[in-house]
Order: sequence, then structure tokens, then C-alpha cells
Amino acid sequence: MSQPPPTQAKILIVGAGPTGLATAVSLIKHGIAVHDIVVVDSVLSGQNTSRAVVIHSATIEALESIGCFAKLDAAGIRMQEMRVQDGNGSPFLVNDFSSLHPYTKFPYACIISQAHTELELNRELEALGGQVFRPLKAVGMKPVGNGLQVSFETGQIITAQYVIAADGARSVIRSVAGISFVDPQGLDREKSGDPRISQIILADITFDSSLDHIFPVDPYTGALSICPDGLFLTFPLAHPKVQSTLYGATEPIYRIGFSVHLTKGEAPSHPGLEVLQKYVDGHGPPVLSSDPSRNPNKPVHLKKVYWSTRFRTHSAIADTFFRRIRGDTEQENGGVVMLVGDAAHIHPPIGGQGMNLGLRDAIGLGATVAKHIQSKDANNDSNLQMLQDFAKERHEKASKQIVMTKRFAWFVGSLMNPWSIPYWVVYVMGNISFFKKMLVWQLSGLGNR
Ligand SMILES: Cc1cc2nc3c(=O)[nH]c(=O)nc-3n(C[C@H](O)[C@H](O)[C@H](O)COP(=O)(O)OP(=O)(O)OC[C@H]3O[C@@H](n4cnc5c(N)ncnc54)[C@H](O)[C@@H]3O)c2cc1C
Repeated sequence: MSQPPPTQAKILIVGAGPTGLATAVSLIKHGIAVHDIVVVDSVLSGQNTSRAVVIHSATIEALESIGCFAKLDAAGIRMQEMRVQDGNGSPFLVNDFSSLHPYTKFPYACIISQAHTELELNRELEALGGQVFRPLKAVGMKPVGNGLQVSFETGQIITAQYVIAADGARSVIRSVAGISFVDPQGLDREKSGDPRISQIILADITFDSSLDHIFPVDPYTGALSICPDGLFLTFPLAHPKVQSTLYGATEPIYRIGFSVHLTKGEAPSHPGLEVLQKYVDGHGPPVLSSDPSRNPNKPVHLKKVYWSTRFRTHSAIADTFFRRIRGDTEQENGGVVMLVGDAAHIHPPIGGQGMNLGLRDAIGLGATVAKHIQSKDANNDSNLQMLQDFAKERHEKASKQIVMTKRFAWFVGSLMNPWSIPYWVVYVMGNISFFKKMLVWQLSGLGNR
């Protein structure tokens, strides 16, 4: 850490992932002085990974409202089309994002690695005079006078009136604030997901030969293949043809993602080339296989793995996104905790909604806290209603998002079982314009900003 953080702040943001950074930028853009905000993170910079790769229209609009989208747009790839297809590549549903044209200036999804999104948000924060203090891991919090005192592993202490918990799914701030985090339907973690699709592997990789004929970038096409053994996602993540500079690579990089049935045991946490190749050959679409008996026309091999991870999905939501924490005496007014992003809600990555909802929470939270601070009597308790209303509204949106994601998960899970929804039904539905538009609308977030 180059310089120690201040011991006092009006607003302390714990966590500098996408939502912590976006909250900080939004606060400043809505008129809060940089010196009133302290942002901390437990890890050194550059340790965040690829993870989320899709920014949907509603989130693009929100990022643009705080001047943070143009650079992401320039570095990313515009996705017009996402196919849902069977294992042999026959599409039965095409999500056409251009159908959003009447409703938004941004009728596409931006494909870009989360590491890059965080990099650009961090650059914007620095350009505004802010910085992230690292490594500082929050371990405790208690009310002191007119604020909350957050303590760190290093022994440092920062007191703030507002503490924003942007510290991810395992949020320490949420836990020390005594806020629960459970599946909204009360399911326990093990039962919260479909065993066929709740263990997922993601990887950013290259192939040894061009796949431009299957997954072109202009117009852009990605695909979710419903294979007999699970789901298999493939799409171009970076391509020299469209100025994307991810990992400094000069060849196309693809994001692959697939489910591994829980009965097959726990997959390796960071699978390497050989393991990934085995999975791709074993239950990916034949066109991606290196096995000539499955892919006689042109076997392809994985060439390089830039990043990979295995994770289990489940859903959870905090019981509240707002908590006033008071001290034991009348004089100890304490302070306010607000939850944002994964600290507030998590759900399976189907549809790529997690970071999107988190970024929209964050940008709205920045505007609301700024408005609250700028209001005439910010210290008056009745004035906290503004923050409570915002938290309630975001809670409703997150609950809605979890229900929607569970429906998506059920839908794609059902496609794996031809007895549940025959392909022809989906094929017929996939050709009904209203159904197609509704699906894209849901994915875009425009109906759940
Ligand atoms: C493997 C994987 C794949 C995903 N894929 C997708 C996808 O395709 N699409 C999508 O939309 N979403 C996806 N997500 C979800 C997405 O990554 C999250 O929704 C997003 O990162 C949430 O951002 P956040 O800022 O709320 O939390 P995080 O990104 O988790 O950031 C939290 C930050 O807080 C810091 N921190 C944690 N604890 C402390 C502490 N005690 N003190 C100080 N700092 C702390 C961490 O270092 C981190 O920088 C994926 C997630 C994972 C894990």
C-alpha cells in the first residue's frame, strides 16, 4: 500500500470489484467530493479474473449515464445474436438483440471480460482523483458516535457514516451487520440448484485452427448447445478483427463454459489444457471435438488456456439491503450499511445477469446516497427513508431476477430431457416473434433496470 488510508470518511466502500468501483464513480459523478469517499479492497490490483463477460443493454445505459461505457464499447465486441442449439449445431432458438432497437440506443450486448470492465472503472475512478487502498481486508464493524468503525486485518480502522458492502458473495460486512443471506425459496445450498447444471466450468481459451466459419464475429454469433451430457457455451470473447485486446493475444480467444453433472464428482478447480480437452471431446458439440470419430470433417484442438475455473451455482439474497446500526446509548447514532452486488444477491450465471444487476444497483446507489447527503437534513432519521426506499426497490428487482434466472435454468435443464420439453416445441416457440422478443427483453434487463 503506497499511502495509508484516512481514518475518517463520509462513505467507506468495502470491495473494489465492479460494483464497488461503479458506486464510487457514480457518487463522484453525482456531486460527492472525492475526499469524502474511501474505497478499500482485500487483494492487490490485477488479481481479479475474467468471470462475467456480457454487459446487457440496461447496464450499458447505466454505465453510459456515468460516462463509463465508451471505452468498454471500443474494447469489447458487440453481440447481435446468441443461438440456442442442439449438440449438432442445429439452432432452435436465436436471440436477436437487434430486436431491442425501438427501446434502447444500445440494441446489443457488449462482450468483454470482467477484468477489463474493472480496469476501465478503476481508470475512471483514478481520472476523477480517487484511488483504491489495497490490500485492506475488513474483519469487523461496530457503531461509534455518529458513524461505524470498520476494522481491518492489518489493525487499521476507518470510521464512516455510510458503509457500502461491495465485498462479494461472502461479504464480511453483511455478516457483521447481522444480515442473513439465504435462498429466497428457503432451499438449502445443496438443493438450491439443478444437479445437472449447478457445477460449471468456465475457460478462456484458443483453438489450433480458425472457428470463424462457426462462430463469426461480424455479425457476431455465440451459441449455447444443449448436449446430452450438459450445457455447452461457446462464443468469441476477443478477436483481432474487432480491436479486442484481451490478454494481449493476436488470435481469437473463446469463452467456453459447460456443466458437469454432480454425480460425476467434483471437477478440478482450475482445469488445465488436457482436462478441458477431455471434457470438450467427451461432451461438447462434435464440431469442437479433437476426436476424428466425432468430428470427421475437421478435428480441432484446444491450444492455450488463459483462464479457467470451476464453481457451484446457487441462489441467495440478503434479507435487507439497508441497515441502520446504532450504538448502546442515545448519543451513539451509529451509521448506515447498504449492500450492493454479490454481497446483496447471487444466482446462477445462466443469462449472464449477476454482474449486470450489481452494476445497475451500484450506479443507482451512488446517485441515491449522493442525493441523500445533499438533502437539507441528511442527519435527520426521517430522511433515511430515501435510502430505505431505494434498498427496498433493489431488493424487489433482485428477487425478480432470481426467479427469472431459476426459470431460465429450469428451461435449459428441461431441454436436456426430451421427455420434459420436446425440441420441436422449443423450435416452434423459437419461431414465434413475440416469444423471441420477450426472451431478449428479459435478458437485456430493460424491464428490470
Ligand atoms: C466463476 C464465475 C463466473 C461468473 N460468470 C458471470 C457471467 O457470465 N455473467 C455475470 O453477469 N456474472 C457472472 N458472475 C458473477 C459476477 O462475477 C459477479 O456478479 C460480480 O463479480 C459481482 O461484483 P461485486 O463487485 O459485487 O463482487 P466481487 O466481484 O466479488 O468483488 C468483491 C470485491 O471485494 C473484495 N473483498 C472481499 N472481501 C473483502 C473484505 N473482507 N475486505 C475488503 N475487500 C474485500 C474482493 O477482493 C473483491 O475485489 C460470475 C461469477 C463467478 C465466480
